Amino acid sequence: MQKLYEGKAKILYQTDDPEILLTHFKDDATAFNAQKKGQIEGKGSVNCTITAAIYKWLENKGIKTHFIDQIASNQMTVKAVKIIPLEVVVRNIAAGSLCKQTGLEEGWELPYPLVEFYLKNDALGDPLLTQERLEILNVATKEQIEELIKTAKKVNQLLQEFLTACQITLVDFKLEFGLDKAQKILLADEISPDTCRLWDQKENDPESRVLDKDRFRKDLGKVESAYKEVQTRVLKQIASLIS
Ligand code: UDP
Repeated sequence: MQKLYEGKAKILYQTDDPEILLTHFKDDATAFNAQKKGQIEGKGSVNCTITAAIYKWLENKGIKTHFIDQIASNQMTVKAVKIIPLEVVVRNIAAGSLCKQTGLEEGWELPYPLVEFYLKNDALGDPLLTQERLEILNVATKEQIEELIKTAKKVNQLLQEFLTACQITLVDFKLEFGLDKAQKILLADEISPDTCRLWDQKENDPESRVLDKDRFRKDLGKVESAYKEVQTRVLKQIASLIS
């Protein structure tokens, strides 16, 4: 199969159908703009499985995604889209770069969900954009930006509902979107412990509660088991919704 693109965590392949691509999820892990590199055993499978389950659930709730089918534990077929070069971050609780840049205390509950745009550009270190910078850069139209904000907030609301049932707190997460042939905006990329901050509601200790990539970023250990725990709870919740 023809490789189209290889990123830090995934490889994208062409298929016989130009409108369908295959995404292979890798075990490779990177952080701090790829300055820290490593492997998380089984991560490809876990992230692919969690993304597939969540995207199927979101589709049922009316969110349009690029997801088609999970064809192997670490592979899924997706609709071909042109990725909008923005990282759309939604935050419910202060953590990560928000704390570093503003001095807010980690764990502080925000008065309302914060939607932020970062330019997807590794060479520039994915800078945070203001509304005016967004307009000047012209990466998306005003209407498209409004739709991205609305969809990101809706996804946040739905994910919070879903993850609360898994006894997981959704601290923050990153979304990426793409445009299909008809210029329709679809949720793309992945939703997984690589792209979300997830805190275990069964744990109070600030280190023990971490179920996401912060375990890798901060060398907290037990990375694989945390990712697996998220998969177990997500699949259990999906099963309980079906039965
Ligand atoms: N995030 C991501 N990819 C990125 C940057 C951030 O998936 O390139 C996710 C990150 O895992 C977290 C949220 O977006 O859930 C907010 O990240 P933040 O801006 O705090 O950056 P960090 O300090 O994690 O680099």
